[in-house]
Amino acid sequence: MNSKKKKSKRILLVEPKKSKNYHTQYPPLGLLKLSAYHKQLGDTVKFVKGFEDDNFEPDKIYITSLFTYAWEAVHEVIKYYLQKYKKAEIIVGGIYATLCEAHLREAFKDRIIIHKGLVNEVENILPDYSLVPNWSASIIFSSRGCIRKCPFCAVSKLEPEFCAKDSIKHLVYPNHKKIILWDNNILASPSWEKIFKELEELNLEVDFNQGLDARLVTPRVVERLLKLKIPIIRLAYDTHIIREPLKKAIDLLKSAGFRGRNIVVYCLYNNPFEKDTPESFLERLRDLIDWGVVSYPMRYEPLEPRPKNTFVAPNWTPELLEMVAKARRVLGYGGAFPPYKGLRMKFFNAKSFEEAFFLREPKKNIIYISK
Ligand code: SF4
Repeated sequence: MNSKKKKSKRILLVEPKKSKNYHTQYPPLGLLKLSAYHKQLGDTVKFVKGFEDDNFEPDKIYITSLFTYAWEAVHEVIKYYLQKYKKAEIIVGGIYATLCEAHLREAFKDRIIIHKGLVNEVENILPDYSLVPNWSASIIFSSRGCIRKCPFCAVSKLEPEFCAKDSIKHLVYPNHKKIILWDNNILASPSWEKIFKELEELNLEVDFNQGLDARLVTPRVVERLLKLKIPIIRLAYDTHIIREPLKKAIDLLKSAGFRGRNIVVYCLYNNPFEKDTPESFLERLRDLIDWGVVSYPMRYEPLEPRPKNTFVAPNWTPELLEMVAKARRVLGYGGAFPPYKGLRMKFFNAKSFEEAFFLREPKKNIIYISK
């Protein structure tokens, strides 16, 4: 035997335990890539959600993290594994670890390694989806970063440099039924057309999950989109600045045959960086209803670790924010506002934000929305 042969390692991959805050419908992509990477090296890999209770005795433990408000679940698993496997190296990565290094360092000092940003070695590797056998979609980044630097967005901190792949075929897992692109701004990629061509050839359902940049939607883009199996087109209307390009993009999409009810537009509110007021938010919602598309309100959450839904931007109050949340539950559909006739009347007839979002008391709280 070759005495120089590298000893295989035992690798434990940990996704924090799901909770009300630590919740995602997606598998932990970074861990799946690390699994593929370590298996290629001949290491033994185990993936757990939360707390592992047999005695795997890992050499190395990778713990992932989600949004900054979901930090508590991450701390819980770190504490557990620090205690359980005192000799293992613990590496914590993901969004919270990248954005809140000091918070993590203060809690765990030098007992953990904090990995910020991407793991370059695994960026181009096919994730090990065998760890999540019930999952049937390939999640792919054909590009990282974004060409824009919107002040309310974490992308410039998470992925500071914009870089793009010119092919994604090798990242599609056999037998998967769908491709989910997590690009922040795929249309900014110099290879977007080549990627679209590959998606067309793959003939799988496609979801541009993070939305398309309306400013980059051209007739050529729409022509290529028409060739894809794409049930929902996602766009964003975060500030009034993009009103005109957004309207133009929606017009292009609709005149090409995309149904307004299949165009979902994310609408940021409670945004402290722009002149976002309840009234300006209502104006954006009215625009979207007027243009016949679905609006999806997104409440701004700051990048620092604090409980979800506790940040209140200067022009908002907790009561006004609660009015939006309630209206989404009562008037909306899955949290979105489709361009229903009844909703249109309610939003357009109202003289103020308060009136638009006012809901009658529960006893009489029967609101009919004509569809
Ligand atoms: S365009 Fe979108 S992804 Fe890019 S910086 Fe702005 S909000 Fe972030």
